[in-house]
Amino acid sequence: MQPGIPSIVDLAQAKPPQSLSNFQVRFVPTPPESDGVQFVSFELSCPICLAGAFQILELSATLGPMGIVARCRQCGREEQVFNAATDGYDGSFGHLEFLKEGVSAAPLEDDTGAALEAVQVRAAFSYSIPLAELMEHAQDAHLDPQDLFDWFHLLTKTADAEGWDWVWEFECA
Ligand SMILES: [Zn+2]
Repeated sequence: MQPGIPSIVDLAQAKPPQSLSNFQVRFVPTPPESDGVQFVSFELSCPICLAGAFQILELSATLGPMGIVARCRQCGREEQVFNAATDGYDGSFGHLEFLKEGVSAAPLEDDTGAALEAVQVRAAFSYSIPLAELMEHAQDAHLDPQDLFDWFHLLTKTADAEGWDWVWEFECA
């Protein structure tokens, strides 16, 4: 990357993707681009009480899972973290309007079928389109390049766990 030219990481750090606009977010540094893919990641806090533990709800449309909602364990506030119908590359361009039909929410379950309880949450976005090209697409549509991610990833961590689990993802492009 040439000096003076912002990277997708710089752009997203300065203004996180719209998808997270209802949360307090903290930028989490991620490794540099590898195999042409750049990850950008944020840890979420409740916009009302600033607590950092959530219950996770999965949104599903007729065709399958397509979104994530986080419910604050402390004050009960519910906010959407990601919705494939409106977020990411295809969502931003309106390619997935059909996913708005018949949406319902249910607790996201772990491998054993138990609902995830009181987890810290990170949202990660990945980008594989070269930034110059992404900026052209964004400019034409009056969007920010950081909103045109091609994957959304949800990471969670329970209070007693040491590491983060990648629990949910959606391909947006
Ligand atoms: Zn709260």
